[in-house]
Amino acid sequence: MKKHNFYAGPSILPQFTIEKTAEAIHNFAGTGLSVMEVSHRSKEFIAVVDEATKLFRELLNIPDNYSVLFLGGGASTQFAMIPFNLFVNKAAYLNTGVWAKKAIKEAKMFGEVDVVASSEDKNFSYIPKGYSIPKDADYFHITTNNTIYGTEIKYDIDSPVPLVADMSSDIFSRPIDVSKYAIIYGGAQKNLAPAGVTFVIIRNDILGNVKHHLPTMMNYQTHIDAESMFNTPPVLPIFAALQTLKWLVDKGGVEAMNKINVHKAGLLYNEIDRNSLFKATVIAEEDRSLMNICFVMTEGNEDKEKAFFEFASSKGMIGIKGHRSVGGFRASTYNALPVESVEALVATMQEFEKDNS
Ligand SMILES: *Cc1c(COP(=O)(O)O)cnc(C)c1O
Repeated sequence: MKKHNFYAGPSILPQFTIEKTAEAIHNFAGTGLSVMEVSHRSKEFIAVVDEATKLFRELLNIPDNYSVLFLGGGASTQFAMIPFNLFVNKAAYLNTGVWAKKAIKEAKMFGEVDVVASSEDKNFSYIPKGYSIPKDADYFHITTNNTIYGTEIKYDIDSPVPLVADMSSDIFSRPIDVSKYAIIYGGAQKNLAPAGVTFVIIRNDILGNVKHHLPTMMNYQTHIDAESMFNTPPVLPIFAALQTLKWLVDKGGVEAMNKINVHKAGLLYNEIDRNSLFKATVIAEEDRSLMNICFVMTEGNEDKEKAFFEFASSKGMIGIKGHRSVGGFRASTYNALPVESVEALVATMQEFEKDNS
């Protein structure tokens, strides 16, 4: 039976990425060696990093005064690295969920953190609006897509202070204006590559303001100067990321991705809104994520949750269990998820409704 992979992360990757990576595990760039057993400083691997950087720049239209870094440590290490490198007097954060809170916790170790707005009062089911960003903050941090709650800031906000964005789960899902951000970062395992590589897009002039010493590995400047080669980078995930970037170019880039993502998410939200057994946890259409779609059983039908999970599993739906802090279901519809998988889930929901109401 065909499996439909709705995991939130690690998550579905293009078949192209998996096949090319599998080939390179056996024979990398005609070397007769595995990509896992060649020097990261070999000319063949340097070419991989160079091309991945070039495609990152092309796909996102990254201005020349920004660097693209491939680091280890996951997005979670960035939660600390950002204040370590940018925090002088005070930082501002938007609290939109678990990941935002984790970032806030790290920043608080460096001093005053102004949480300008929070959606915690309604279990993070919306994106706060109408807040003001303090002009004396060293930076303002947002999480553009809240993977757990299914909310998303689908536009580039204007910030009077340097804007820092965790885009772990929506990078390359839509066009962005990089010039509005000082730093964009994320773990690769949602929309780009296997776990292990963290991308950082950083405006070069944002650094150099902190007075304290920075441990070498925690200093962005180290990695900018060494072009991600200060230490051994995660070679296999970087190789795989390059394949996904090539796939993205071939598919028409982020504009084309966005069109498909809008279409896929629309199919599923429409069915959730129509189906008498299900309801979305995020009500406001403008806040609904195109990447993680959360839904629960409607009132009076809560007892059918387990039955739907089992029915959907029997139809090949994988990874649709909601995060424990939201409950219900979450279907992640990342770039690599084919439209057919969304159509199959919609058909499964319709069939379940027919049999159960
Ligand atoms: C998954 C995720 C993280 C955590 O990433 P790690 O690479 O596991 O540290 C952070 N932020 C968001 C928005 C995520 O989806």
